[in-house]
Amino acid sequence: MRDWDARDGATRFAPSSPTPSPRGEKGLKKGYHLSPPEAPRDCALCPRLVTYRESVRAKEPTWFNGAVPSFGSDTAELVIVGLAPGVTGANRTGRPFTGDWAGDLLYATLDKFGFSKGTYAADPGDGLKLQRAMITNAVRCVPPENKPVGEEINQCRPFLKARLAALPKLKVIVCLGKISHDSTLRALGVKLGPHPFGHGTRYNVSVNGRPVTLLSSYHCSRYNTNTGRLTAEMFEDVFAAAKEALG
Ligand code: SF4
Repeated sequence: MRDWDARDGATRFAPSSPTPSPRGEKGLKKGYHLSPPEAPRDCALCPRLVTYRESVRAKEPTWFNGAVPSFGSDTAELVIVGLAPGVTGANRTGRPFTGDWAGDLLYATLDKFGFSKGTYAADPGDGLKLQRAMITNAVRCVPPENKPVGEEINQCRPFLKARLAALPKLKVIVCLGKISHDSTLRALGVKLGPHPFGHGTRYNVSVNGRPVTLLSSYHCSRYNTNTGRLTAEMFEDVFAAAKEALG
């Protein structure tokens, strides 16, 4: 098995076996190291996603096929919150946005604004490091047709909440898409009504009592970019705003 641990210095959950086990220290088998705030790779809290994950694993046993951990620095000032792993992207490679269409634009944009070092090669072994940044997802397991249901989004939110709370230098959050935007607001205890999602929206929120800027963008999915709903320029404008907010 590949070593999924410490590829970038961030905290990892490193299973020695893909056998599912319940969430929580008590349910973990020997050799597992659950370091909050990441979900265990074999998290079993969403039955539909576990069934789907196992069906993909049966066809593609060498793929990651688990709850994909966040990628980046534990001292990140910027966090990008995506929707969920893509089946042939992060679910295959084990690194958020790695190996699919959406990752091409996201990692190119991060590079352009100085949030990464190295060359993105669509593989967790490419040596890419994020600088001042982390990428996570609102839902950590791949959903069928890229569509998690509300219960799954709710079930995974504690991991998102814990992830954000565990970043002592967090200043800016960039949410990709409405599900990410809404789940992040809920994770922070912020009412959705006065803070509707829109491309380029900007709100002041707080995490652990510290002020944080929350920016949102259309998701950099193949559908959005192919239809012209999101252009590279529109996406870059959001990251330019993030950079400016970081100071
Ligand atoms: S989506 Fe989140 S809560 Fe659901 S099984 Fe995966 S890690 Fe667990």
